[in-house]
Amino acid sequence: MRLITLGIVLISLTACTDKSTPTNTKAINHSATRITDGVFVIHGPLDLPNKNNKGFMNNPGFVITGKGVVVIDPGSSRGTGEMVLREIQKVSSQPVVAVFNSHEHGDHWLGNEAIKLAYPNVVIYGHENMKQAAESDGDNWIKIFKKATEGTMTPTKSVPPNKTVKQNEIIKVGEVSFRIHNYGQAHTNGDIMVEVVEKKVLFVGDIALYKRMPLLNDANIKGNIDTLNNALTLNIKYYVPGHGSTGGKEVIKPFRDYLVLMKKSVARLYEDNLLDYEMKTKMSPDFIAWRNWIGFSEEFGKHVSVMYLEVEKEAF
Ligand SMILES: [Zn+2]
Repeated sequence: MRLITLGIVLISLTACTDKSTPTNTKAINHSATRITDGVFVIHGPLDLPNKNNKGFMNNPGFVITGKGVVVIDPGSSRGTGEMVLREIQKVSSQPVVAVFNSHEHGDHWLGNEAIKLAYPNVVIYGHENMKQAAESDGDNWIKIFKKATEGTMTPTKSVPPNKTVKQNEIIKVGEVSFRIHNYGQAHTNGDIMVEVVEKKVLFVGDIALYKRMPLLNDANIKGNIDTLNNALTLNIKYYVPGHGSTGGKEVIKPFRDYLVLMKKSVARLYEDNLLDYEMKTKMSPDFIAWRNWIGFSEEFGKHVSVMYLEVEKEAF
């Protein structure tokens, strides 16, 4: 009898919830932070894409130059791109003339659509491999985000880069130089880090995250470490990670150290003939410093497996 009553209550609660939570169509709103003269970042939430954040979770940036505005990684949907445009309009009346996409993962570049709609002549830069991946996987990323956000993501079309860039290339926009860094496969096989030379700012993409763990399914961990070591030698004052707060070297070193410890631990246990799933439990206590990072429990075991495959490959 009690169970039946509970059942009825539960059903009516569900019905009530369904009615009271229509699809949230309100715009995504986060404010931009001024990092230094003319450089702004909108720091996204650290969580994974969900119904509430509508898929927004990265760190879009923009740079005001004398010849227009340059955007870095306008986010995961048309809605996030529109938010970037609204934040730009608060500080500049100039048009957006260029966009840089740090890598192929959809949370960083699906916002291109909004920029392209507002400024049809905008040049969108990406690494050659990133451009190809975006052209083939764009619709797939949209499907993934639609599902993860339970449909709250703004309807979005895939707009991949229309121009490729290479290691060490410098793109001048007005008085500002944007220098491209790519040292081979790192987070993906088509990453770019964008250095805003005169401002001493480096947009790192997902080469480093702060207080949140990335997916490393497309990564080469050794390459990721090498790329971060290169980033640390540059004359940079402000590092902007793909996710997490902006700061000095202290915001990219913890992730570098995590990867270095991962590599060392897996290599050692590989010598002891352990398999990746056996390593995970043995290694876990050494990683206490990263345990409270968002996504640690979900990703740690997967990172061990990625590293295991790399060590195994190197052994042959
Ligand atoms: Zn990524």
